[in-house]
Amino acid sequence: MDNYVEHALTKTKIVATVGPACDSFEGLRRLVEAGVDLFRLNFAHGQHDVLARIAADVRKIADDLDRPVALLADLSGPKIRLGELPDDCLEVQKDETYVFVRERAADAPANHLDSSYPGLIDDLSKDDRILLADGTVSMRVQETDDDSATCVVEQPGTLRSRQGINLPNVKLSLPSLTEKDQKDLAWALEHKIGFIGLSFVRHPDDIRDLRRRIEESGVTYRPAIVAKIEKPEAVAVLDEILAETDLVMVARGDLGVEVDIARVPALQKRIIRKCNERRIPVITATQMLDSMQHSELPTRAEASDVANAVLDGSDAVMLSGETAIGKHPNRTVAMMSRIIHETEPLVVSRKELPLGFHAQKNTATEMTRSVTLGAIHAAERLGARLLAVLTRSGTTAAAVSELRSPIPVLALTDDPRTAQRLCCCWGVRPVVTDACTGSPPEILDFVIKWGKEHGSVEPGDLIVIVATTDWSRPGKNVMLVEEVPNGTDS
Ligand code: PGA
Ligand code: MN
Repeated sequence: MDNYVEHALTKTKIVATVGPACDSFEGLRRLVEAGVDLFRLNFAHGQHDVLARIAADVRKIADDLDRPVALLADLSGPKIRLGELPDDCLEVQKDETYVFVRERAADAPANHLDSSYPGLIDDLSKDDRILLADGTVSMRVQETDDDSATCVVEQPGTLRSRQGINLPNVKLSLPSLTEKDQKDLAWALEHKIGFIGLSFVRHPDDIRDLRRRIEESGVTYRPAIVAKIEKPEAVAVLDEILAETDLVMVARGDLGVEVDIARVPALQKRIIRKCNERRIPVITATQMLDSMQHSELPTRAEASDVANAVLDGSDAVMLSGETAIGKHPNRTVAMMSRIIHETEPLVVSRKELPLGFHAQKNTATEMTRSVTLGAIHAAERLGARLLAVLTRSGTTAAAVSELRSPIPVLALTDDPRTAQRLCCCWGVRPVVTDACTGSPPEILDFVIKWGKEHGSVEPGDLIVIVATTDWSRPGKNVMLVEEVPNGTDS
């Protein structure tokens, strides 16, 4: 619990992937206590009934700890997997020939391979490159006919059943949402999952199509879409994708296979910068503390990677195998939280957006922007220990988040869905409370009590509140500065 209180107000959010290493009620609870803001549900392996139990557990834990935690349903998209190998494992040697077929018969020759996508044969042409085993094995297509594609091994290595296959720049006729994705999406919407991820985005239409399907499903809530940037095709039309999506993930795992790995650090910085300019929340993902899957401490390079992702401007950083299948999921989250905590004092505040320039996804009024800006200036100038903003739709909280202030920020809302969405919003700690419908003095009492309970304020500290004289109208028009009083009653 200590850990949780100490880092309650770190600003960069932590995303953890759920898997067998953490998916019990207790396992998930410990990760929330260590600092997880958002859990990623992976449809690659998970069964819907298991995922439903996990989603219910996460919601119960969030309730118990009075700490909003969000869920991300990560759709696999047009991901192609190798089929079953006769011995589950296959050593391929340089210059050996392998033949991809639509469907491998049980008695097929040992060098026949198939994949989860029977149409692969039709999409491949001579000289295309096929990358396997996370890019460590490569083959080149030599010739194709109606039923097969013959390939030669260029880079030897070990293949395993059901591993992902990457085909950079091969024009695949696979749809952006497979039949399985459509079923997974229906499950996610039925369970009111707040964030929907889409893997292997190739074109802005992929995002439009997903949004249309969500709208046509008739759900009464509006989940946020996360575009995973992991294909060269997506990098080529990044601006257009950013114009459509709600959030972005720098999915370095597949990106590092699909493009030259030497380009990944520069691409990470470019994608984050573009997202920051447009004020689109961005998650940096994959292998951040990878060696902690087995070891109790990260490498120096990994610790620096997390810190650099924070300094680049990530709104959130993500763990994958570390929490899903690693030996030390709690230690890894706690370590990530500590690196964030140590690094954040170096984050530089941002300039305000010019009058009249609205960030793509934030519709805050000029009145709200001006009041929040004034509140942040006052809070920084006075060295306030806490800034609390009232937010119904999340817009005011996002307007504060955009300014990247070092002041700890509470976002008070009476809508649990808004609180969920803010779990991926930099620098804002959502709190669900009816106090926001009260008068400014009642709000003040709530914030002082919260701050004392969470060790964020002491008597004599200053706090700043952004509120409104009428909760039912849009926009914020009140800023309050107050000293935390002595006394035991609050
Ligand atoms: P994945 O996506 O873990 O679902 O493959 C993230 C990545 O590729 O980095
Ligand atoms: Mn991926």
